[in-house]
Parts: sequence; C-alpha cells; structure tokens
Amino acid sequence: MKICGLNKTTLLDYPGKVAATVFLGGCNLRCPFCQNGGLVLHPGVEPEVPVEDVTALLRKRQGILDGVCVTGGEPTLTAELPYFLSQIKGLGYLVKLDTNGTRPAVIRKLLEQKLVDYIAMDIKSSLEHYEKVSGIHGMNLEEIQESVRLVMEQAPDYEFRTTVVRELHKREDFESISKWLRGAKVYYLQAYRDSEQVIRREFTSYSRAELEEFKEILRGTISSVQIRGLD
Ligand code: SF4
Repeated sequence: MKICGLNKTTLLDYPGKVAATVFLGGCNLRCPFCQNGGLVLHPGVEPEVPVEDVTALLRKRQGILDGVCVTGGEPTLTAELPYFLSQIKGLGYLVKLDTNGTRPAVIRKLLEQKLVDYIAMDIKSSLEHYEKVSGIHGMNLEEIQESVRLVMEQAPDYEFRTTVVRELHKREDFESISKWLRGAKVYYLQAYRDSEQVIRREFTSYSRAELEEFKEILRGTISSVQIRGLD
C-alpha cells in the first residue's frame, strides 16, 4: 500500500483527541472542489512514506497521541486497509476513518472487525444533486445511503460532514439532507476554502450568516450541527 503523507500531530482532525493523520492516495470521486487534487488525480507521483516509518512513529508516540486518522483520497480503496488498521489498533490507538461512503461493504467489514472507532463520512450534497457535486455521472446512490445507515447504526462514534460551496449548494439541498439524515448525531457544515490543491479553482464560500441559516434547517432533525472552517 502507498502512504502519500503523514501529519505527525494534529489537534484538528480527530475531535477531542491528539492524533496523527495518514494520507492514502487515489479516489473514485472527482469532487471539483476537492482540496487534495494531487492525491486524487496523480497518486502515483506523490511522494511515498514507508509504512514502517508510520508504525515506528506510532510506537514512539504511545502515551502522547490518542489516535490515528486515516484519510485520502478514499482510504477504503486500499486493499491493505484492514491490515494497516489492525496494526494501528494493535499499538493501542483509536482509529478515525474518513470516507466518501462509496464502499459500504468495506465499511461494514471494518465495523465487524472493530477496526474503527470513529467514522467521518462525507455527504456531498442532497441525493438529488449528488452526481453533480461528486463529479461522477451515474454513481450508485444506493451505496451512499447504505453507508449512511451503517454509520448511524453501527459506528462507535461518527460525524457526517458537507463541504459547502456557494456555486454547488443551495438552501434546498440542506432541506433535503435534513430529511435524509433525520436522527443523525453529529453533522458539520464545512466552509469551502480555496487553495492551490483544489481540482477546479472556481469556487467560493458562503458567509457565516448564510451557513448559520443552513445550520438552523439541519437542527430540525439532527442533534448537533456545527460549522467548521471559518476564521
Ligand atoms: S473531496 Fe474526497 S471524495 Fe471528493 S475527490 Fe476529494 S478525496 Fe475524493
């Protein structure tokens, strides 16, 4: 397996925990606002971090770090993911998995094997506009819905999150999402941020006041709704 990046310490990626973050390359979606363009489009040319370097760091930081975030790209595409997570768990760490939810069979297996403690699943948009926002025509929305069910019913802890882009999301999307995710525990509205890594650099963010309006819509059906990514 190819690890394309390692952040040795973060207070931001795993809510309430001190963590390291591991980046795996490759993704099966093409969200035009994606912040990790290099990892998604050209994982083969990204620098590689040896797995042994990651496990050595985790051995050294036992007692200092609480957990490890595994992100991408889309980590569930990596065949060696279960083995890698079992190595991390074997060192006594909590595991947070970031996923786009396109591979519910993998998520189910990881949950059955108790290899994840926290799942952060992207909700790209309402089901009506999922294809546009994920950049994939003809994608299987049943799989996304199945992943939502699995996460809500079986994940030890979880969040759903949407990167909110002015040019891609409208108020109606959040009305639809609030019906779809009724009963969910935690949902984050993440303000879009421009950077050099974005796949298509043509987007802007909503203001805090506008995001607060979306938050109010979602709070009707979701216990905790929070805004992330604004200064
Ligand atoms: S935002 Fe996530 S799911 Fe979308 S292309 Fe980027 S890595 Fe893949």
